[in-house]
Amino acid sequence: MSTKASQSRNRIDSILINQEWCKRCGICVAFCPKHVFEDDEEGTVSVPRPEDCIYCELCERLCPDLAITLVPQAQDAQAQEEGAHAKTAQDAGAQA
Ligand code: SF4
Ligand code: SF4
Repeated sequence: MSTKASQSRNRIDSILINQEWCKRCGICVAFCPKHVFEDDEEGTVSVPRPEDCIYCELCERLCPDLAITLVPQAQDAQAQEEGAHAKTAQDAGAQA
C-alpha cells in the first residue's frame, strides 16, 4: 500500500491553473473528489476551495493539457527551517 507516500504528501500549498494551457474541458471539475474546482459558463476553471484538497493528484494526472500544478506545502521551506535550526544549534555549539 502507498499510505506512507500519501500521508507524506497530504498537504497542499496551492493549486495553479495555467489558463493559457487549459482548454476548459472540465475534467478537473468533474473528477476532483473534493470539489475543489469550479468552472464558469465559459468553462474557465477557478480554485475556490484549495483548503479541501486531499492531494490525491487526480487532477494533475487527468488534465490533458498539463495545466494543473499542485504545489506541496512548504516541505522545502520546512526542511530549510529545520536546517536553519540545526545550523543555529551547531553555531551555538561551536560558540560554546
Ligand atoms: S482538466 Fe486541465 S484542461 Fe481540463 S479544464 Fe481542468 S485545467 Fe483545464
Ligand atoms: S489533488 Fe485531488 S483533491 Fe486536490 S484538487 Fe486535485 S483532484 Fe481535487
